[in-house]
Amino acid sequence: MTERIYSTDQYAATVAATIVDVDEVDGRVLLDRTVFYPGGGGQPPDAGELVIGDDRLSVVRVGSDSRGVWHWLEGGLPPVGTSVRGEVDWERRYRLMRTHTAMHALCGVVWDRFRSPVTGGNMEPGIGRLDFELPDWDPEARDPLEDELNRQLAAARAVEISFLPRAEADEDPSLIRTKVSLLPPSLREVRVVDIVGLDRQADGGTHVASTSEVGHVRIAKIESKGKGFRRIRLALEETVTG
Ligand SMILES: [Zn+2]
Repeated sequence: MTERIYSTDQYAATVAATIVDVDEVDGRVLLDRTVFYPGGGGQPPDAGELVIGDDRLSVVRVGSDSRGVWHWLEGGLPPVGTSVRGEVDWERRYRLMRTHTAMHALCGVVWDRFRSPVTGGNMEPGIGRLDFELPDWDPEARDPLEDELNRQLAAARAVEISFLPRAEADEDPSLIRTKVSLLPPSLREVRVVDIVGLDRQADGGTHVASTSEVGHVRIAKIESKGKGFRRIRLALEETVTG
């Protein structure tokens, strides 16, 4: 199993690791530990490089399975046992962390105002979309929602990561709202991302440590997605950079 450094140390951009398996057919290697997020929960996988001596191999894709985190490489594959340094494209990853935290903050603000659960979402660096069950949407509510979201971000709320035993997570009302029940039953421990006082949900993704790091965000668009559903698109103001 790969030690998933990004799960507990979200600010680790590089790590020394060893190749523990090579899949010549798919062109990928398995590492004993990694800082590369393999994708999931709407957050795309990281990009970056594996450095071996003077060689830099591009990681063109990352994914995970029951064995751990696989790194797809361009060109020939190094043999099992090779020492590497994994380096994520930090500028891209940090922008994803800010985007991901902004999206959870939006979940919290929408829940506080409308008691509307989120039903799905996706993001790219700097932009995200979330779908909500929002039956009675008033277009006049857009600006106040954006203002409230930015107030909450500017309040520099701590974003804390914890791990809960599954049985405890299954009985936590705030986690049930974000559909912890949909997690695979085999999962014994649930990772929880808590924007303290605003939003708490089961999530495997990478986040900034304080909402102040997100900076200012815009609600770019609110679209109707069928009866009772709204898609909210948000964008980071790129005045703040990682
Ligand atoms: Zn999330």
